[in-house]
Amino acid sequence: MRVALVNPAWAFAHSIYFGCREPHLPLELGYCKALLEQAGHEVLLLDGPLTGLSNGELADRVAGFAPGMTVVTTAPTYLFWRCAPPELRIPRDFLLALDGRGGRTVAVGPHGSTTPGAALDKLGVDVIVRGECEEVVKRLADRLDSGQPGLDGVPALAFRGGGGTVLTGGPHAGRFVDLPALSWPAEWLERHPHHHHRYGTEPLGAGAEVEASRGCPYSCSFCAKIDFRDQYRRRDTAIVLEEIDRLIAAGVRYVYFIDEIFLPRRDLLEALVERPVEFGIQTRIDLWKPDMLDLLGAAGCVSIEAGVESLTEEGRAALDKNCRMSTDALADRLIHARRSVPFVQANLIAMAGDDAGLVARWRERLHGAGVWANDPVPLYPYPASPDYRRLWGEPDDRAWERAHEHYLRQFARLSDIQEEEPLPLHKLEAACGCR
Ligand code: SF4
Repeated sequence: MRVALVNPAWAFAHSIYFGCREPHLPLELGYCKALLEQAGHEVLLLDGPLTGLSNGELADRVAGFAPGMTVVTTAPTYLFWRCAPPELRIPRDFLLALDGRGGRTVAVGPHGSTTPGAALDKLGVDVIVRGECEEVVKRLADRLDSGQPGLDGVPALAFRGGGGTVLTGGPHAGRFVDLPALSWPAEWLERHPHHHHRYGTEPLGAGAEVEASRGCPYSCSFCAKIDFRDQYRRRDTAIVLEEIDRLIAAGVRYVYFIDEIFLPRRDLLEALVERPVEFGIQTRIDLWKPDMLDLLGAAGCVSIEAGVESLTEEGRAALDKNCRMSTDALADRLIHARRSVPFVQANLIAMAGDDAGLVARWRERLHGAGVWANDPVPLYPYPASPDYRRLWGEPDDRAWERAHEHYLRQFARLSDIQEEEPLPLHKLEAACGCR
C-alpha cells in the first residue's frame, strides 16, 4: 500500500512550547518508513521544516502520491514528545489542507497516546496510534492492505465506532533495540546546519539527531513519559554506529542523542573516540563516575544537559528524582565534566518555596567554574506525567486544557524562552477549527 508520512510545517506563535524551534530529523517517521518499506509498502516521507514546504504544499504533495493512508505526527520529532506543543492546530492545519485526499488519516504522537478521544475530536482523523508508533503504523498498513474488515487485531489504536471511541489496547512500547539504521535525504541534511543544544563551540558541518536508547529507569514526577518512551531500552550498538557512519559519510559532524537519559556506555563511547563526529546528550550527572566523564569528553561530547532540578535533597525527593548524591557532590561532578566537555548545563526547575539566595549562590559558583545553570523554569504538568495524575487523576478529554490553565495561572513569570504572551489552549486551537 502507499503510505504518506508527514511532519507538518510547525509554527509556535503564542504557544507555551519551550522545546527547540529549529528543524530536526523526524525520527519516528524515519523508523515508520524503514519498517513499512521492509514490509513491501511504498512510502512518501515529507518534512515541512526541513523542506520549507507549507502545510498546503505538503498536502498537495501527499494528494499527488495518492496514498491509501496518511500519517501525521503531533510533535516535531520524538525528541519533543515529552514537551510537545499542547495545541494541535498545526497537524490540524495540515489535515484541513489535505481535505480527504490522503486515504485513511492517522495521527501519531503524545496527544493521542494519552488522550485519544480528545485527539480524535480535535484532529478529525480516522485513527490514532497510541504510544511509540513505528511498529503499530506498519501493522496498521499491513491490515488495511490485507482488505480484511475492521482494525481489531492491531494494538494501541483509537478510532470512532459504535457511537463512541474504540480502543484496541493501551499505549504501545516498541521493541526498539533492533530498529534499523536510518538514512536521510542528502538535501534534508544540507538544510540541517542546526547542532541541537550546542553552545560555546563552533558548529561545523551538518547536524543530525540519533537515538541510542529509549526511555528511562527513573520516574521523576514532572517527566511526561508514562504513555511512551517510558521503560529503558538500549539500541544495538552496531546499528547505532551504522547510522552514525552513514551520517558522517553524508557530511554530518555533530549528532544529538535524543535519549531521555544517555547512560554511561563504554562500548559506544570507545567507538565514537575514533570517529570524526561530535555529539550532545542529556543525562543525570549523578550516574557518571569521573573516569566515564573523561571518556565521554574524549569520545567527542561537546554538550551535556543534566537535570539537577532542585538544590535541596528534600526538593529532589519531592520531585521523585531518586538521587543519592548531595548538592555539593552534584556540583563537583558537573565541574569535573566541564574539564573535558566544553558546554555543561545544569537544569533547574522553579518550585514553590525555592530559596532565591541559595539558587543565586549556586548558579554563581557553577558559572565561575564554566558550568551553565539556568534560571529555574516553571513546570508544565503534561498529561503523561505523574504530576498531572497526582493533581487531577487519570487524564480525560479536558486534560490538556486543564494542564494549560493551571500552568498559565501558576506562574506570572514564564521561562525566558517564551518571548510572546502565551494564549489559552482554546484560543490557540480556535483558528484551525480543532473541535
Ligand atoms: S531522569 Fe530524566 S528522563 Fe528519567 S524520569 Fe527523570 S526527568 Fe525523565
